[in-house]
Amino acid sequence: MAKLTDPITLLKGIGPTKAKQFAALNIFTLGDLICHFPRGYEDRTRILPIHKLEPGVPACFRAMVMNTPRTAHIRKGLDLTRVQVADHTARLNLTFFNNKFAVEQLQYGKEYIFYGKLDGDFSGYQMTNPVFESLESPPVSTRCILPIYPLTAGLSNAAVGKAVRQAMAVCDTPAEILPEAVRREYGILDADRAYQAIHEPTSLAEAEAAKKRLIFEEFFVFSAGLSIMRAARAEKQTQPYTDLDLTPFYEKLPFRLTGAQARAIAEICQDFASGAPMNRLVQGDVGSGKTMVAAAAAYLAAKNGHQAAFMAPTEILAEQHHHSLQKLLAPLGIQTVLLTGSMTPKQKREVREQLLNGQYALAIGTHALLSDTTQFANLGLVIADEQHRFGVGQRAKLSAKGNDPHLLVMSATPIPRTLALLMYGDLEVSIIDELPPGRKSVESFLVGESYRARINAFIRKQAQEGHQCFVVCPAVEENEDLPIKAATVWAETLQKTVFPDLRIMLIHGQMKGSEKDAAMAAFARGEADILVATTVIEVGVDVPNATLMVIEDADRFGLSQLHQLRGRVGRGDAQSYCILTTRNRNPDTLDRLKALCKTTDGFRIAEEDLKMRGPGDFFGSRQSGMPTFRVASLSMDLQTLKDAQAASARWIDTEGTSNTPEAIALQERIGVLFQRSEGTMN
Ligand code: ADP
Ligand code: MG
Repeated sequence: MAKLTDPITLLKGIGPTKAKQFAALNIFTLGDLICHFPRGYEDRTRILPIHKLEPGVPACFRAMVMNTPRTAHIRKGLDLTRVQVADHTARLNLTFFNNKFAVEQLQYGKEYIFYGKLDGDFSGYQMTNPVFESLESPPVSTRCILPIYPLTAGLSNAAVGKAVRQAMAVCDTPAEILPEAVRREYGILDADRAYQAIHEPTSLAEAEAAKKRLIFEEFFVFSAGLSIMRAARAEKQTQPYTDLDLTPFYEKLPFRLTGAQARAIAEICQDFASGAPMNRLVQGDVGSGKTMVAAAAAYLAAKNGHQAAFMAPTEILAEQHHHSLQKLLAPLGIQTVLLTGSMTPKQKREVREQLLNGQYALAIGTHALLSDTTQFANLGLVIADEQHRFGVGQRAKLSAKGNDPHLLVMSATPIPRTLALLMYGDLEVSIIDELPPGRKSVESFLVGESYRARINAFIRKQAQEGHQCFVVCPAVEENEDLPIKAATVWAETLQKTVFPDLRIMLIHGQMKGSEKDAAMAAFARGEADILVATTVIEVGVDVPNATLMVIEDADRFGLSQLHQLRGRVGRGDAQSYCILTTRNRNPDTLDRLKALCKTTDGFRIAEEDLKMRGPGDFFGSRQSGMPTFRVASLSMDLQTLKDAQAASARWIDTEGTSNTPEAIALQERIGVLFQRSEGTMN
């Protein structure tokens, strides 16, 4: 028997070339093949007499070959084979193009099962390229429910199906992870039957039942994983912080905290005093002042003899946080240091030495903070900003650098409750539902191309008043296939033909980290009037003097993303504006964009977004804090999600530490899932 972890090259017919094609589907092992689930099925179980076949409706029929197939060479590369078949109801002419197999296999006087659809009209129906099998061969492409697999270039459905069946034949399907009691309670198939039925169902109903089981299983594994992490943390002990006096910190703050900020900080203080590691998510709309909450936490950690690590998703953001936190904390005697990937090896080495010998109380950085070479003298607090870009696995990795440090994650993505439960099931939540006072809400408009002159005039007006403007484009470079604005081209056009007298800068994701940082920093210092950008500016960057956000081809973005972008303005005292342009005329799209203009409530926008696009798009492939589900769809399978969550919670309580085969298999699966969902960072 082969193992699930064995490479697919073990199978007959899969050499290096085929293996490469399968790799494009993320299939490397036999287990990957078995977990490559069909995206749908074709019901080929119906077998009709020929006279009952309907044009255009594919079906199976059983017929005898009435003559020897005759092949005509039409031209180079085109051979045409004709053969007549019949059953007791009618005769039918079949045509095959370039089908050597048909020529060789179809024998005069023998019966076969065919599957195809009639074409032609009353003057004569016929059938082109039907598939067929002999009566003795196993039902693979006729007389069955045919699974339709996700494919990639070079791999046919038949080839994928064959490989899957081969894998199923040589190795056991993944072990059962659901306790029998759970399966019975929710009426779900056992693992063996489910894997069998998802690939080779005997009916559509059975395929459906298999799918239900596999969805349940995915949610169960994920929920159980979160519960276990949560339980493990709750059992851990830390030295409670004794000095929770924030007065000196408040005295240095240039403003009074909002009530919501104060509440979040109070909750953090409770965690610090509890003696168990904090595990908290601070969720607050863009501009709600999460950074100060993080700063207060870092301040307290330092006062209690701990180092803190503050992780940001981009270099720009790390630098900005470093800049503002240093200004705030240095007078309080707390030394901060920056660590990013684009620093020279020598600089990085120095910073790492200083962290290891405890010289700095607060390190701010990007994923460079995660690398194995970064070690701390006494890491007691880990802060992750814009948490949705950090996977559960990455959080765990950073935590492992300290001795069960406190964990504070911050997210500006308002996440609908159902999803929040799933993503943050292992976290306590503080919500900042209040903006700093005096913040005017950003006035938003949706306009078409006919407004171009007015948009330009408005940009000029803002610049003349000494303010700055973002212009966001959906793409970096022009692409013939997609008529959308490209940042590079648009920046040039604006500079040359519209605003020759204004200072225009460009920033996009294909620039080097250091170049991006330089451009962003320069813009923040006021060295340009207009920043033409892609969504790289989406996260966190603070330019209080920017009052106008123009988003080109806004229909190319998700609502939540637009909301995030809009949050880049309205951070200062002046009234700010957001102009969405679109050339799209689809009424649904326009309604969606208009809805965004009418509300600034991030939660409502998120709900709307989720409804429109489903959670996959909602989080974007890049924002991979979200686990990837193979079968489950978060928007479609909410009830199953709830069932699985309830079941897994009960299971953890009663059986979580048992050594049943199911419990052991489940632990293994949890490990795999959490590794797979680890975030990739830009
Ligand atoms: P976000 O929640 O999006 O991370 P920030 O922490 O970047 O928000 O804060 C946005 C802006 O609001 C910053 O310029 C910050 O200095 C300012 N700010 C934060 N808290 C307050 C407050 N209580 N009063 C006034 N301004 C504040
Ligand atoms: Mg922020």
